Amino acid sequence: MSISIAIDGPAGAGKSTIAKLAAKELGFIYVDTGALYRAIGLYAHRKGVKAADTQAVIALLPEIRVELSFNESGAQIVLLNGEDVSGLIRTPEISMMASAVSAIPEVRAFLLDLQRDMAHTKNVIMDGRDIGTVVLPDAKLKIFLFASPECRAKRRYDELVEKGMDVRYDDVLKDVIDRDYADSHRAIAPLKPADDAVMVDTSGEDLDTSVNRLLTIMREHI
Ligand code: C5P
Repeated sequence: MSISIAIDGPAGAGKSTIAKLAAKELGFIYVDTGALYRAIGLYAHRKGVKAADTQAVIALLPEIRVELSFNESGAQIVLLNGEDVSGLIRTPEISMMASAVSAIPEVRAFLLDLQRDMAHTKNVIMDGRDIGTVVLPDAKLKIFLFASPECRAKRRYDELVEKGMDVRYDDVLKDVIDRDYADSHRAIAPLKPADDAVMVDTSGEDLDTSVNRLLTIMREHI
């Protein structure tokens, strides 16, 4: 029987960084499900389809094959129709596209089996918005990771600047607030903690402290 740990929470709470490090420490596979929605957002963007045009996005789905794979150093890569798009999906524009296409029920259904299959055969730490509530409701442990919008925006801003992107903090904060609103108010699989989730606030905490806190919780449960 494989063991699954679900980590949900808003953008920028530190899910991916913390989950990646914790997975390495525990020997689990880290699965970033946001990358799947981003790949679909990128595909729609390339086709010139607006995310608000739900029917047009749905019509694209039969053309799309998304796969998660791992490179030689164990890092996750996302393949969109065989092309490694891991670097291309991390822009603010594709973040908004991902958030918009993720509100379409057909898109969520399209990605559901892929996510469940990964957890079926391997020990995973899977991060997303609805992992504990929808994708893996029987996960051994569910964690809801959050932090204040300002704190999350600052982290995202620093990350983007480090990548050499020309961004303004106020724009990043607005994106964080807009995306939170969209993710938690959509009709299907809205961002919310599972009833049995352990709530973890990472506001003002450094990375090491958060990782150690999560590892302690994880070791207690697995
Ligand atoms: O986690 P990340 O910021 O990469 O996710 C991109 C977008 O994909 C999120 O804003 C969210 O709307 C959507 N998403 C989702 N369900 C998931 C993972 C991500 O709806 N399990």
